[in-house]
Amino acid sequence: MSRPRPGPREYRLVETRLQQPLSNGRTRCNLCLWRCGLHHGARGFCQAHVNRHGTLYNLSYGILSAIELGPIEAKPVRHYRPGTRVLSVGSYGCNFRCGGCHNLEISWGVEALDQLARGESTAAYVPPEELVQAARRHGADGIAFTYSEPAVWLEYVLDVATLARGAGLYTVYVSNSFVTDEALELLAPAIDVLCSDIKSLDDAFYRAICPPARVADVLGAIEKAHRLGVHVEVRTNVIPGRNDDAGMLGEIAAWIRDRLGADAPWHLTKFFPAYKLAHLPATPSETLERARAAAHAAGLRRVYVYDDKGCDCARENLPVAAWLGREPAELHATKKCGGGCCGEEGVLLKKYEKA
Ligand code: SF4
Repeated sequence: MSRPRPGPREYRLVETRLQQPLSNGRTRCNLCLWRCGLHHGARGFCQAHVNRHGTLYNLSYGILSAIELGPIEAKPVRHYRPGTRVLSVGSYGCNFRCGGCHNLEISWGVEALDQLARGESTAAYVPPEELVQAARRHGADGIAFTYSEPAVWLEYVLDVATLARGAGLYTVYVSNSFVTDEALELLAPAIDVLCSDIKSLDDAFYRAICPPARVADVLGAIEKAHRLGVHVEVRTNVIPGRNDDAGMLGEIAAWIRDRLGADAPWHLTKFFPAYKLAHLPATPSETLERARAAAHAAGLRRVYVYDDKGCDCARENLPVAAWLGREPAELHATKKCGGGCCGEEGVLLKKYEKA
């Protein structure tokens, strides 16, 4: 018996864009550099991709955790279409576990992704066409993918970015740049702006939040995006005692100058205590000013200090339904995959384990 086709507004699992069968019965996800090798039933480190009988699926396609309209400068991006407005969206799932994460509930989203896997989620499902229409209706000039790492949601990002461009909207991708070359090659022609973190030049910093990550991976991805023609701006959240050494910050500035150009923007943001780093103080203004001075000394011309804001955080103001003009009861109805192939067992819940 053929399965009913899901309706246009019906949540469904979508096949992971970059997957590779392995010889031992596992399938590898090649979206980010975790390159998770997953058995049937297992979910990736980000929790957003699941292996069902050898095929990987994205659980979070079209699922929005937050949505907000604001100036592009708040991303922060200052040298692409300044003065324009961008509709920012995020989902659940991330490939890093930052100790000072400000978006913990929505970005890691483990419980939200478990609910999706159990068929019990009431999160908002917004097809790409509807998101682009909402952006235009609210007078946005672009759409930003942010709040958690968009690489773990690449299927949706690509579909939205393609439609957005057709509708005359630009796209901004706010990332940690722990991404594969293959994903970048898919992404670069589709998006307009990359705002990427360089969190540190110390591998130990990255190991603590994402054990396979190396500084060279992150820098390599940023440089590659630049080479592929994406407008790149860099951000560093300066954390007291963790990545505030003036010498190292000067080295980041020198790297930006040499690899992206002396006019490539660098945004220095203030850390505010959060989560596992709640015991640390907020970044003193003098530390940020020292970093600015080191960057100018290195020859970087566009350096911006944010002394009043910790990150590109999602704020809870208008509910998602209000942006979309949908009835909350309909938007937040319980989500079961419209594909109808999972049966009563639902999508399996087994969490990531190192293969
Ligand atoms: S963390 Fe997620 S996006 Fe990255 S490789 Fe694993 S399953 Fe894919």
